[in-house]
Amino acid sequence: MSKPASPNIETRLFIGNKYKEAKQSEKITVINPFDQSIVTGAVSCAGPDDVDDAVEAAFAAAKGWAKTRPSERARLMLRLADLVEENSEELAALETMAMGAPLWITKHGATSMAEWFRYYAGWANKLPGETFLDPAEGTCKLSTYEPFGVCAGIAAWNGSLMFVGWKVAPAIAAGNTFVFKCSEKSPLGVLALGKLVIEAGFPPGVINFISGGAEAGHALASHMKIGKISFTGSSAAGRKVQVAAANSNLKQCSLELGGKSAAIVFEDAQLDNALDAMSMGFLVNSTQVCAATTRLLIHENIAETFVESLRSRFESIVLGDPKAPTSFMGPLVDKIQFDRVNGIIENGAKEPGVQVVTGGPSSKTKSGGFFVTPTIFLNPSTESTMWRDEIFGPVLCVRTFKDEDEAIELANDSKYGLGGSIYTSDISRALRVGAELKTGTVSINQGVIPDYCIPFGGWKESGTGREGGKAGIMAYLQSKTISVKLL
Ligand code: NAD
Repeated sequence: MSKPASPNIETRLFIGNKYKEAKQSEKITVINPFDQSIVTGAVSCAGPDDVDDAVEAAFAAAKGWAKTRPSERARLMLRLADLVEENSEELAALETMAMGAPLWITKHGATSMAEWFRYYAGWANKLPGETFLDPAEGTCKLSTYEPFGVCAGIAAWNGSLMFVGWKVAPAIAAGNTFVFKCSEKSPLGVLALGKLVIEAGFPPGVINFISGGAEAGHALASHMKIGKISFTGSSAAGRKVQVAAANSNLKQCSLELGGKSAAIVFEDAQLDNALDAMSMGFLVNSTQVCAATTRLLIHENIAETFVESLRSRFESIVLGDPKAPTSFMGPLVDKIQFDRVNGIIENGAKEPGVQVVTGGPSSKTKSGGFFVTPTIFLNPSTESTMWRDEIFGPVLCVRTFKDEDEAIELANDSKYGLGGSIYTSDISRALRVGAELKTGTVSINQGVIPDYCIPFGGWKESGTGREGGKAGIMAYLQSKTISVKLL
């Protein structure tokens, strides 16, 4: 039985600076993964008509926003960043009750969103162009960069507020308007942002938030008035988005997809640092993190002691109520994810030659929460599901290597190419091995951490396009060449 939303929980779509119910009667039910209580059964589920409304609102605002002085765009973005930070406790609580990450993580999501808005506000009046003056030929050629008009974003649930920063901030700084669809699994924090958009003073239609599932995502991907779409989610859904984009108006499409990143730990690594990164760092957000280094490659000479130390660190992780400050790890997002991850663990534990160092299959906790015990598998086959496929849960697979070449070969033997980490005290080795890894990001002596000032994105089936840094804003601009004959 669904219960009405509490008065503090916004469940309606935010379109043209107004909150409104979706036109279709279907609702999204948000279940708290800590205890399976129903948070609300009343979240609007956008259908194609609602997507049309949101795109029309963004379209109506697009001309005016593109002509708004960049310094004014920046001023509004900075104001929104401040408001997000001031309201970060409330936003974090809304995210936590829907997707189960501890408050310290969801609050970081809100403050990180604010930082992305601040960073891209700085770009608004620094967008480059190129000039080629050739008096001998009597020509001047210019290359300018212009916004697309309406852009859209579709996001996964594991960092909704952060993804607003990754997508909306560069797009609107560049002069586009935006329709952002949050995941049906974590809609509450994003919908609450609407009132802050109004308070910050944005004109209606510049930023629109809709909640909905695959149907709304497909309607965005195939919409004829959207010039660019940025998708964060699974490779399977990402492919469909790209096909829909191609089959409609060939809109530009960037895809931030899954990963199966490797961490390589050499004999000369600072072991405490590597152990911290591969335990606390690895288990952040219950490893529901696209760039987590879920395949650990450890030099055979240090494997035994390293894995033993890792085991004790995994076992000291505090799982608990995500609202409690003492909890490091919360539950997984929902029953689907719990059953999927547990199924992989159950089957993996039965594979010949595999050692379960710690963890193993989980049953639900007393609270009824979808907690999965942090698990380490030693020596899974390189053909096994757990070694090859993204698990998106707290499961680490470990294999040993003899030398650099073998480590590189194992690391690159994946259809994914999102990130990779190298732990060593030898900077030459770090750079040599880093140059060989077929991934969008390589981190030395730390986990893979996306940051607003540098591009982040995947190689191979981990995606196309980049978010962050100059590349992140250029992705929301199209070049125009102007040729002038000097008379
Ligand atoms: P998902 O693909 O199931 O859903 C992501 C979003 O796509 C949701 O908003 C969903 O409603 C929408 N969607 C689903 N089907 C669609 C379709 N046919 N057309 C358009 N939209 C559709 O992914 P998820 O379970 O929410 O997220 C987990 C996945 O996201 C993992 O694979 C993870 O690695 C990936 N991810 C990647 C990054 C990155 O930056 N590379 C970041 C976070 C998560």
